[in-house]
Amino acid sequence: MTGIDVVLTACLLANAAGLGAAAFVLLRPRAQPTGPRLLSFAMGVLVGTVLLDLLPHLWEATGSFVTLTALFAVALLGSWWLDRVCPCVGHPHAGGSGSAGHAAQDAPVAPARRGVLLWVGDFVHSVVDGAVIGGALALGVVPGSVATMAVAIHEVPRRIAVVTLLVRAGHHPLRALLITLGTGTGTLVGGALVWWWAPAVSLLMPVALAVAAAALFYVALAHSPSLFGAAWRQRLAVERALPFSAGLLLIHLSHHVHELLG
Ligand SMILES: [Zn+2]
Repeated sequence: MTGIDVVLTACLLANAAGLGAAAFVLLRPRAQPTGPRLLSFAMGVLVGTVLLDLLPHLWEATGSFVTLTALFAVALLGSWWLDRVCPCVGHPHAGGSGSAGHAAQDAPVAPARRGVLLWVGDFVHSVVDGAVIGGALALGVVPGSVATMAVAIHEVPRRIAVVTLLVRAGHHPLRALLITLGTGTGTLVGGALVWWWAPAVSLLMPVALAVAAAALFYVALAHSPSLFGAAWRQRLAVERALPFSAGLLLIHLSHHVHELLG
């Protein structure tokens, strides 16, 4: 096995657990992927990914608060443009079939667009994770295995969150799984890029981190009215806060695992 084969295999392996978990959540009998608990969990994962995973890495990559803020602001503006202005992403309120009724009363914003932003953000995040795996494998087998494991662990809540939000955006569960399978190939792209063009990747890394963080942050912001909205304020407050915290905590813990082993 050559070096690049090892990198690509590790990138594929890092996806396996997350995809398995997402498939289990969506396809188990009486699955209710748009239910309030799973949605709150997905939001916790999303917020945790932005605040505890992507932004700290962006800070490491730039080392400057001004650069970080500028990159994040531009990427956030880009997310807004893709969500609200860009004609490339369906007409507002046009998306959604299966869960459209549920989504319509919960989220007044265009669900189809949010789906695109979500998978764009998730794909770029996967590229970053692939680059982390490739970079660590270039240093040796042990750091490479640790990085692969760390990515695989945080893939589990991440994939569950992404398929949940995709289904809520109106995609059929199987289609949501296929999309997340597609966004997961970003790890292969990131791994191969860092293996062949490491200097170019270290230049592009801050941009990729900012794009992923901003896109996912935008999706989280867009979903927050339905999460914390008046309709839910009286009932289900605890039912929503607990899964939200669980999602946040899982992302936090997966990072500790990386630091402990690394
Ligand atoms: Zn990550």
